[in-house]
This record gives sequence, structure tokens and C-alpha cells, in this order.
Amino acid sequence: MQQYKLLINGEWTDSSTNETFENINPATLENLATLQVASGDDVNRAVKSAWDAFPAWSETPPPKRAMVLFKAARILEERKEDLSALMTREMGKVLAETRGDVQEAIDITLYAAGEGRRMFGETTTSELKDKFCMTILRPIGVIGMITPWNFPMAIPAWKIMPALVAGNTIVMKPASDTPLLTIKLVEVLMEAGLPPGVINLVFGPGGTVGSAIVHHPDIRAISFTGSLETGKWIMGECARSMKRVSLELGGKNPIIIMDDADIDLAVEGVVWGAFGTTGQRCTAASRVIVHENVKDEFTQKLLARTRSLKLGDGLHPDTDVGPVINPSQLEKITKYAGIGKEEGANLLTGGSPAKPGLPGYFFEPTIFTEVDQNMRIAQEEIFGPVVALIPVSGLEEAIEVTNNTMYGLSSSIYTRNISHAFKAIEKIEAGITYINASTIGAEVHLPFGGVKGTGNGFREAGTDAIREFTEVKAVYVDYSGSLQKAQID
Ligand code: NAP
Repeated sequence: MQQYKLLINGEWTDSSTNETFENINPATLENLATLQVASGDDVNRAVKSAWDAFPAWSETPPPKRAMVLFKAARILEERKEDLSALMTREMGKVLAETRGDVQEAIDITLYAAGEGRRMFGETTTSELKDKFCMTILRPIGVIGMITPWNFPMAIPAWKIMPALVAGNTIVMKPASDTPLLTIKLVEVLMEAGLPPGVINLVFGPGGTVGSAIVHHPDIRAISFTGSLETGKWIMGECARSMKRVSLELGGKNPIIIMDDADIDLAVEGVVWGAFGTTGQRCTAASRVIVHENVKDEFTQKLLARTRSLKLGDGLHPDTDVGPVINPSQLEKITKYAGIGKEEGANLLTGGSPAKPGLPGYFFEPTIFTEVDQNMRIAQEEIFGPVVALIPVSGLEEAIEVTNNTMYGLSSSIYTRNISHAFKAIEKIEAGITYINASTIGAEVHLPFGGVKGTGNGFREAGTDAIREFTEVKAVYVDYSGSLQKAQID
């Protein structure tokens, strides 16, 4: 059994706690590895190492920094199959999806590497003669990164790659359920030539190790992806120390199905959105807002498709739906199934934990119908294979129901009516809207993030990726040779 130490200054070093935790396959309960738990002192060492590495890394020209990323992308491509299989064992989702997760990491690595030759500032006019004005992007310094378990490689890569190309150094704590794929990603970067100390990895519970990162006075910014609850707490703590923080949080993502929609296409979109990754995506479709004229047809077809889904080990080619991540997640989903029944929603299928011949944490794909928009199962993020069908009488009501949530990440509408599609684009309060496609499937060259309770205004990926990890500096160059005074006549 491999035991992982902490990565500090390019060396795998012992933590000072003597504590370890296990990395468990959620389908088979096989123990994949043990990891050492970091202490506050270990976090201090990691932050010092990141600052020690900062001058040389931030002074390396961005196109040279990018070369490390280009090389890393090539290594990731070579190892894609092995990394995907390991991810399925660590996190549970099916191989097709873990391949997608690794591919997304490769894509963002290449995209961020390209930014090494862009990272554009602006030039603009001056109100004075013989004066030149421009903006440049500067690295922030040491960034603390805290990530969740549902995209074990893609989410760390979405943060690490742009931050690196922008010249920052990093202290990172991956989710305790899925640290292995972050370790593999960072090993690849080191193989590709990343200097020691530029990334440092610490492991252990969010409440202690994550909290030590959030509170560290020498960490300049926190990049966090996770739950609304943890995000709110982190934002409050960062406010106290005026630390910059970017938050990517939860979702309660809707799919609207109009009565002019291609119903078969919509069914496929809902099955993929609701039950892909066992519903454990921030962009998972958890509310289906269906026009009453097509409700019966849609519901019957969705039920038949859902019942055909095969639960099992994600490594098996026949498996459609893998396990959920851990026992507490299974308990939470089971609790919400009970809440849905108590609230008076109709449990059409599923609703219970499942045992598909494996000892792990499985839950039946679950559909509730006749859901009221204000029920808890229509408002709170369950993060499991549970979908709530809410009937509506038209587009206006559909959009009202869509926006009746504290979240605003992804959204979708199935319609053949161009006016409906554009009205939805205009009126839906979300960071992402899909037309005739499910709520999932972000591409790395577009900004990713949400409004309202989903975040605090930052976007990851796309051209915004570099903004998240840079400071803008305004530069004035006066070549008049005399004292010129702006705003003074
Ligand atoms: P979580 O419980 O908030 O945990 C996320 C990370 O924060 C983990 O590394 C966790 O450590 C750490 N953490 C927990 N408490 C902390 C604290 N007090 N201080 C610092 N760090 C702390 O969320 P999760 O259950 O892993 O992930 C699921 C959530 O992430 C869902 O709400 C989902 O919607 C959201 N998500 C959002 C996006 C997006 O881009 N918008 C993408 C994916 C997921 P441990 O692992 O040790 O607990």
C-alpha cells in the first residue's frame, strides 16, 4: 500500500502529525492508499516554500512558464488511460466520464499554456500630451487552493494551470476523498520541469488543514470550489484579513422542457444531466421544469430510460451509473428522498440505497414528480442521482420557477421556438445557459461559474481564468520632460 507524504519544496516530506487517512474506492471499498495529515506547522512550511519559489518563477517569462504546461499536457495525454482508470477507482464515476475529466485537465493545460503568449493588458489614451497609458497583469503571489472530490483532476487543473502561467506559486489541499489525481497531476508537472516549491501539496481535513490555509497571513488569495456552506464561511474569514477569494459553489440546475421540444432529445439530456456522475456535478440537472402539455409523454419516456440504467463499478463497460462518493453522501441523499416523500412529492422510481453486488455506496436513480417549486427537494442541493419534475403551464412560469433558487450556475431549455430560446437566454439568472443540450458539458475556452449563491463573481476557464490569478496594474509613462498634472488646469 502506497503512503503519500506532503509535497513541500519539491520533496515528499513527513508531516508532523503522525496521523494518516485512507483513500477508499467507493464502489468496492478497496483501500487505494494512505496519506499523511498535515499540521498547521506543515502548512507554514508549505507557504514558506511557495514564497521562496515565487521570485524565480514570477520572473520567468510567461512563454517559458507555458513550456512546462505544454510538456505536461503531452505527458497527461500519454497517461490518459491509466489516470482515468485510477480516477474511476478513487472517485467512482464511469470510465467514459473519468476520461472526460482527464481530457478537461489536458484541455485547460493547453489553453492556459497558450495564455503565456497572450495575457493581454490594454493600452489607452492619456488626457495629457506626451504620456502613455497601459495596464499590465501581475501575479498575485502565493495562492491557497481548496478543491472538491467530484472532478478530481479537472478542477485542480482549472485552478493550477492559469495560476502557474500567470506566475503565482501554490499551496493546495485537495479533497480528502480524492487526493490521488491531484498528486498525479502535480507529479506530471514536476516531470515536465516545474521548479521545486512552485506547487506544494498538503493533505487532511478541510476543518483543520483547509482552515489553516484560509487563515494563513502570507497567503494572498484563496481559490475555492465546494459547497455553499463552506464557501460562505471561507468568504467571511477572508473578509477579516482582506484576502482575495474566488468561490465556485453549488447549483440547483434546471432543464426547461417546452411543449415544442424534441422530447426524445430532452429525455437523453435529462438522463445525462441528472444521473451522469451519479448526479454529483455542480452542474447536474436536478430540476426538470416541464410543460404540462408534454408532461405525461416526457415522464413515461424518462421513467423507461431511467429504469434501464445499470448501476455498478465504473470500470465495468456496461455500467451507466457508479457509486456516490462516501457514506455521508449516501446518508444525505437517502435523507432527501425521505424529505421528498414527506413533502408530498410523488416518488416515481428509486428513492433508496442500492446493492448492485458490490459493498460500496450506491443509490438508485430517483425521479420525483408533481414537485412544488418551493419544496426542499426543489430548492436544496442534494448532489446525488435525484431529479425533481415540476410542471408548468408556459414559458413565463417556467422562467419564474427556474429563477426561484438561491443558486445560479447552469441552466437549459429544450425548445424548437427561437423566441423561447432567446427569451430564456435573456431572462434566466445563471452563469451558463444551454439551448437543446443538457446542463453539463462546459468547454475550457468559455468562462465557467455562476450568479447568486453559486459564487462571488469570478469565473474560471476562458479568458477569465487569467483574471482570477492576476492583479491589474495601471501604468503611466510620462515622456514630456516636464511636471504634468492630471485633473489640474
Ligand atoms: P465541501 O464539503 O465544501 O468541500 C470542498 C473542499 O473544501 C474539500 O477539500 C474540503 O476538505 C474543504 N473544506 C471543508 N471544510 C472546510 C473549511 N472549513 N475550511 C477550508 N476548507 C474546507 O464540498 P464537497 O462536498 O467536497 O463538494 C461538493 C460541492 O462542491 C457541491 O456543493 C458542488 O456543487 C460544489 N462544486 C462546485 C463546482 C463549481 O465549479 N461551481 C464544481 C464542483 C463542485 P475535505 O475534503 O477534507 O472535507
